Amino acid sequence: MKQSELFTKTLREAPKDEEAVNAQLLIRAGFINKTMAGSYSFLPLGLRVLNKIENAVRNEMNAIGGQEILMSMLHPKALWETTGGWNNIDVLFKVPSRTEKEYALAQSAEEAVTPLVLKHATTYKDLPLAVYQIHWKFRDELRAKSGILRGREFLMKDMYSFHETQADFDKFYAKAKKSYLKLYKSLGLTAKATEASGGAFSQKISYEFMVLTDAGEDDIFYCDKCEFCVNSEISKQNIGEKCQKCGKGVLHRAKASEVGNVFDLSDKYGKDFKLTFLDKNNERKHPIMGCYGVGVTRLMGVIVEKYHDEKGIIWPESVSPFKAHLLRLADPKSKAGKLADKIYAYLLADNIEVLYDERTVSAGQKFADADLIGIPWRLVVSEKTGAKIEVKARNSKKVNLMSYGSLRQIL
Ligand code: ATP
Ligand code: MG
Repeated sequence: MKQSELFTKTLREAPKDEEAVNAQLLIRAGFINKTMAGSYSFLPLGLRVLNKIENAVRNEMNAIGGQEILMSMLHPKALWETTGGWNNIDVLFKVPSRTEKEYALAQSAEEAVTPLVLKHATTYKDLPLAVYQIHWKFRDELRAKSGILRGREFLMKDMYSFHETQADFDKFYAKAKKSYLKLYKSLGLTAKATEASGGAFSQKISYEFMVLTDAGEDDIFYCDKCEFCVNSEISKQNIGEKCQKCGKGVLHRAKASEVGNVFDLSDKYGKDFKLTFLDKNNERKHPIMGCYGVGVTRLMGVIVEKYHDEKGIIWPESVSPFKAHLLRLADPKSKAGKLADKIYAYLLADNIEVLYDERTVSAGQKFADADLIGIPWRLVVSEKTGAKIEVKARNSKKVNLMSYGSLRQIL
C-alpha cells in the first residue's frame, strides 16, 4: 500500500486524554481513533493488526475442532432473566426499545449459545462439540482508563464446548489450555496460566492467562523458575516464599493483564434453560459445558505495552500491519526514485506485505513515522544507497546495505 493513500496521519503529540501507553501510541500512529472512553474505532493499520490476531486465534480454535459461528449481539431480556444475569451482572448493558421491551447487549454469549446448540445437538451422538465466534462484546465498565485493554466494547473470541461427561470435558479442557499457550507464543507473548477458583458457577479450577505488564490491572505472584502463577487475591503463599509447585524458584509479585481464560461451566446453563440431550441409556441429561475467552483487542494493546520504545511501536512480525516499510528518500524522477518504485513492485510481486512511503515529506518525518508505526523491517532507497537497499530491523540499531536478492533471504 502507498502511504500517500493512507487516509490516517500520524500525530506528533500524545493525546491528552489518554493515560495508557497502548492508546497513546496507537492513536498517534493512526491505528485507532477514540470515540469516547472505552470505545474505539479501528483504522486501516489497526484493522490489519486486529485481523492478524483474529486469524491466529481462528487457526488455533479450528485446530482443536471449534466451528466458527457469529451470534446476534442484541438479546431478548428473557434469556438473561433465565440465568439470573439480568439482575446480577452489573456490567450488562440494558437497552430499552420504543416498544417498551428491553434488550441486553451481549457481554458474553452463554445465554445465546446454550439454546442455539441444544436445538441441534439432541443426543449423545451429536456431542462433544465446540462452537466459537470472534465478535464484539459490550460491558458497562466503570474503569475505562487502560486504552484498549479495557473497553466498553471490545472484540472477544468466545468458544463454548458441550460434553456428555465430565471426563470428556476434562480432555477437551486440557487441549484448549495447551492451544491457548501456543496462541500467545505465536503472538510474541509469554502467558502464564493462573489457577483460580471457577467464580460464581462452580468450584472447579479455571485458568486465567496472564501476560506480565505494568499496564495490567491484575496483581499476581509468579515463580521465577517454573510456570506457577496465581492471582495475589487468592494466594495462600506470599512473595519471597519458595514456590509450592517446583520447590526451587521464589515467588515474585507483578502486574499482569488477563488475555484469556477457560472456565468449567458444569451443567449450570443446561439446568437454567431446562435443556437436555438423550444420553447412551436413553436418559435426559444436561450437558457439561465449558467456555473459553480470548481478549482480541486487549491482546493488541498488551502487545503494544510490551513492544515499544520512546520512538514508537515495535510490532512482532506475526501481527504487524505490514512486513516491510519501504522509504523513498529521493526525487521520484531520479535514478534512486525509480529504483524505489521498482523495489516496491518486486515486493508486491513476491507477496511481501509492504507499506511504501513515497510521500513528498522530509526524510526526518519519514524516519520518525516509520519508528512510530513500528513495522519490523525498514527499507530505505536514496541517492546514497546506490543499487542497493538500506535495511534496518525496527528492534535493532544495525543498518545493512543489501541487494534485493539478499533482502529476500531475510524477509
Ligand atoms: P477482567 O477481569 O479483565 O475484567 P473478565 O474476567 O471479565 O476479565 P471474561 O468475561 O472471561 O473476562 O472475558 C474473556 C476475556 O475478554 C478476558 O480474559 C479479557 O482478555 C477480555 N476482556 C474482558 N473484559 C474486557 C474489556 N472490558 N475490554 C477488553 N477486553 C476484555
Ligand atoms: Mg471483567
